[in-house]
Amino acid sequence: CKIDYAAPADLLRDRVILVTGAGDGIGRAAALAFAAHGATVILLGRTIDKLERVYDEIEATGGPQPAIFPLNFEGATLKDYHDMTETLDKEFGRLDGILHNAGMLGRITPFEQYNPELWSQVMQVNINGPIWMTQALLPLLKASDDASLIFTSSSVGRRGRAYWGAYAVSKFATEGFMEVLAEELEHLGTIRVNTLNPGATRTKMRATAYPGEDADTLRTPEEIMPTYLWLMGPDSRGHNGERFDAQPPR
Ligand code: NDP
Repeated sequence: CKIDYAAPADLLRDRVILVTGAGDGIGRAAALAFAAHGATVILLGRTIDKLERVYDEIEATGGPQPAIFPLNFEGATLKDYHDMTETLDKEFGRLDGILHNAGMLGRITPFEQYNPELWSQVMQVNINGPIWMTQALLPLLKASDDASLIFTSSSVGRRGRAYWGAYAVSKFATEGFMEVLAEELEHLGTIRVNTLNPGATRTKMRATAYPGEDADTLRTPEEIMPTYLWLMGPDSRGHNGERFDAQPPR
């Protein structure tokens, strides 16, 4: 956890960073924080007007001009990921980081009642989609001399919890995939792959999962950005295949 990390203003200068789920919650805060530290951010998500609002905010605060990439992990195909790679290749020629942040909760419900279609949907959005997108984008990551791949995990991706169903399983898969890819890419020395657990954070997803909770007791997405900046930027070089937390346990 690097919650006390003080990121230099130019930490991500000249870096091209893709953020998934950039229109809301933690992804929105990360896109704004990365841009504020000099990054050219590619805003990926499924709700275009939310992405446009983040785009406008970055422009208004004088950050490098971002890009918008509309994509819904639910229906996206391999062709979409390859088209995306082609577009980003033409525009930028490389990628210096991906924050895999988009995610859905599914339902908090006893496994006995878990709907198999919803289960597949959660696996698609939280892990399968991001995996195939990463495969397609690997050539662009290899074109960078210092790339950071961050997969968003959760405490239930490190220890299972009753009723968390597909969400927990997708986060365990995220941890496992991170370890596989980190070891495979280790020899390159230029791409690090790690997981980051944001911890309880004041967003719509958290409010849905814990409807009775007082949201004011939670850290905001903005407050957990130091760890995100540290892990995306060059100060975390050399860390590969590791699990991080964005805030101390409550
Ligand atoms: P939010 O629900 O606020 O944001 C989720 C983001 O993912 C939204 O931008 C959403 O887009 C996007 N998204 C959802 N489904 C899809 C899809 N099918 N295709 C593309 N984008 C999609 O959640 P958080 O900000 O809280 O969560 C961010 C990440 O952090 C998730 O991976 C979550 O699992 C993880 N996390 C969060 C915790 C918390 O306490 N908040 C704790 C532990 C982990 P749209 O706005 O258009 O719906």
